Amino acid sequence: TSFLSMNLSRPIIKSITALGFNKPTPIQAATIPVALLGKDIVGNAVTGSGKTAAFIIPMLERLLYRDRGKKAAATRCLVLVPTRELGVQCFEVGTKLAAHTDIRFSLVVGGLSVKTQEATLRTRPDVVIATPGRLIDHLRNSPAFTLDALDILVLDEADRMLSDGFADELTEIIKSCPMSRQTMLFSATMTDSVDELVRMSLDKPVRLFV
Ligand code: AMP
Repeated sequence: TSFLSMNLSRPIIKSITALGFNKPTPIQAATIPVALLGKDIVGNAVTGSGKTAAFIIPMLERLLYRDRGKKAAATRCLVLVPTRELGVQCFEVGTKLAAHTDIRFSLVVGGLSVKTQEATLRTRPDVVIATPGRLIDHLRNSPAFTLDALDILVLDEADRMLSDGFADELTEIIKSCPMSRQTMLFSATMTDSVDELVRMSLDKPVRLFV
């Protein structure tokens, strides 16, 4: 497979080329076509596999071409990650891939000013990348920020979020998301608690093991 055979739009192809990605990694080749169809996905992928771009690329495509112009500004995609560092990495990959679009990203992790994040969230960024603890703070305390218009939820490194003690936060966040959404879950390991999270939050997922 090549990126060109995936029917991606020009602004996204341009960014992929600028990043020097010549061909999709195995997880990207498996994930992107299925994610573009809007299906729920469980992916068995570790850091270094290219999984970030595997979910960001179809997310951007769907943001660009679905319901364009119909909806008011709203947060349409949420990516949950276990740590601040992963959040920063994901934010960087995302903003680079979205460089030729008007899609706006926001990073909501610990160690950054709550007030500044609150102000950013009030502008309803298209994509929010967050750690569960910090996101919960905003959901509880910032009435202007909701997940009511969410189209896509990504649970990245789900095993790590669960082992880091975020299970309750994940449950509360998932309950705040609309039922009709696309959910993609990635995990390095498939533990019982990851399986339970899959059952709770995904709908007939396609399982991709690469
Ligand atoms: P990740 O597994 O998402 O943390 O990505 C690991 C690294 O691989 C990052 O530095 C990416 O920029 C890079 N990368 C992702 N996809 C590709 C690709 N198709 N070709 C070359 N490098 C890539």
